[in-house]
Amino acid sequence: MTSSQTQYRCFPNCRCMRDDEELARGVERAYEMVFKGTVDFFVIKAASDLGLFEAMASGPQPVAALAEATGTVPARLERLLITMEQVGLARALEGAWRLTPFAEQFFTAQDQHRNMTMVPFVSYMSDLIQSYYANLADVTRGKLDFTSQVPHPPRTREDSAFYENIHRSNIHFVQKFLRDKARLEGVRHLIDVGGGIGDIAASLCDKYPDLRVTLLNLPSALDLVRENMAARGLSERVTAVAVDMYREAYPEGDAVLFARILYPMNRQFSTMLLKKAHDALPRGGRVIILDMIISDPARPNYDYLTHYLCSIGMNFSVLEFKDHAIYPELLQEVGFGDVTCDEAYDHVLYQAVKQ
Ligand code: SAH
Repeated sequence: MTSSQTQYRCFPNCRCMRDDEELARGVERAYEMVFKGTVDFFVIKAASDLGLFEAMASGPQPVAALAEATGTVPARLERLLITMEQVGLARALEGAWRLTPFAEQFFTAQDQHRNMTMVPFVSYMSDLIQSYYANLADVTRGKLDFTSQVPHPPRTREDSAFYENIHRSNIHFVQKFLRDKARLEGVRHLIDVGGGIGDIAASLCDKYPDLRVTLLNLPSALDLVRENMAARGLSERVTAVAVDMYREAYPEGDAVLFARILYPMNRQFSTMLLKKAHDALPRGGRVIILDMIISDPARPNYDYLTHYLCSIGMNFSVLEFKDHAIYPELLQEVGFGDVTCDEAYDHVLYQAVKQ
């Protein structure tokens, strides 16, 4: 027995951790799972429900003023603020409480922090905790299905506005990655499949002055895209069209982009969509795939896992844990060559050329 091992803590054949170093790492992870998850999210939810982030965004204030603004009991609010301080959301200075820059960025004023904010996710997750995640055992028993307050896929403008608002809220590094690495020199016409509200198209038009984009989306999203493009003076360059990316052919262009579209789809679905891209391109045309990484065993993707858990309660779902390493082979099968791969910001970017 080495010095790091101790006497059995358990019955002799138990398969639990025997090594104290391994156990210490396990403690950290288990505490994260049970205590950290609880404290982090529920403090954020409380602050958000109370309007505390908004109240604090206007600058340092004493507890009494914040209690007044949020309709809370000062002594209780103080303990919530102290907890927020412990987890890096708030600071107290000379009797006044303020938010940390981190809290300001992610939890206040979503319109100012448009492309990197957690505000819509906090309300979405709060609703899902109450209606769904808290009942996951019953979902697994088959007693409850997934239902979301906003229909998915979206049918009305309001439905699409809800989901597009969510998608655009963590798009900053996606835009940056594409601007830095997508090879669009000489490309005149890009097809942006499932192009969201157009923020990616706009950012690429900004970098490539001769680029035109045809953005494919659901009918319910088209006006949102058009309004977004009009507000940026890009109506002439970005055209939104209703094309069902699963069922219809794609318009012709000289590059096709799939940004955050293919990552959850199995090999068969990915192949089907990449064939459509192939059909829409001339020889020498490019396909660009930007995916979140969801298959790294050392780094579970919790953003994706929140969606994947929802699929437990659906009788049909395309969500999978496809390893992006299959793309080179898959792209070659479909007729693309010169495959390259870049990795940054927990995303991968595959690019290939039609042979
Ligand atoms: N590419 C964007 C948005 C990804 S979210 C980004 O990375 O931010 C998926 C997008 O596909 C949404 O805009 C959604 O409305 C659209 N979409 C969903 N189903 C679709 C379908 N069947 N045909 C075309 N677009 C679809």
